[in-house]
Amino acid sequence: MDLPRIFTIRESSHRIHNPFTPGKLAALGRALHLAPGTRVLDLASGSGEMLCTWARDHQVTGTGVDISTVFTEEARARAAELGVADRISFVHGDASGYVADEPVDLASCVGATWIGNGVAGTVDLLARSLRPGGLMLIGEPYWRREVPDEETAKACHATSKTDFLLLPELIESFGDLGYDVVEMVLADQDSWDRYQAAQWLNMRRWLDENPGDELAAEVRAELTTEPARYTRYQREYLGWGVFALMAR
Ligand code: SAH
Repeated sequence: MDLPRIFTIRESSHRIHNPFTPGKLAALGRALHLAPGTRVLDLASGSGEMLCTWARDHQVTGTGVDISTVFTEEARARAAELGVADRISFVHGDASGYVADEPVDLASCVGATWIGNGVAGTVDLLARSLRPGGLMLIGEPYWRREVPDEETAKACHATSKTDFLLLPELIESFGDLGYDVVEMVLADQDSWDRYQAAQWLNMRRWLDENPGDELAAEVRAELTTEPARYTRYQREYLGWGVFALMAR
């Protein structure tokens, strides 16, 4: 049980595996006015940058769960580096179906709603760990503008236009699930570049060091086409944000 190695090649230099900069992650933490001791459950926690920095900056406590052994090791190392390893821990495992032993104050899934088969299922999953009145965070893509055709949607790595909604529709969908949207921080094209363009140098450096690797041809092909694909389609059409929700 592990994340395919191609992801750890592309994102080898990333602490945040999403189109957020450290500044946007910090802005979200400040926007939520987290009380010291806030208990957090973060499903698909990646390299743990949200939990680690919020433990340092806001004294939150809690647990991250992620299926990647590489990212989970990075998260533990980051917690030690920031001196917060006594307050937060990282579990290697499948987060789909993961429910906390004790209800938490904040339950999050930032950029991995497939663990609950989509937004609605992930909201239900997180709700099972959340105390009444707690905060939920969902990180999710949306269309920045109307997608003209299925080809464009697929070029944004969606399976279809219907995978994602326009921003106001996504916001309304949280209401339909019975939640107030109480905060949000959105990616922008520059923060998308920090996620996507940063992968190109990672791939190039990896290729130079691993020419005989079984993934080399795949990484070579991707690096050749990826910058144009990203700038032609994804950078223009795909938005992303983290939405803070409270049950009505
Ligand atoms: N929330 C993190 C990581 C987002 S990237 C951040 O913002 O940086 C998506 C993450 O989902 C990856 O770390 C990947 O390993 C993890 N993941 C994918 N499927 C998973 C599953 N079934 N259970 C737990 N984690 C999963």
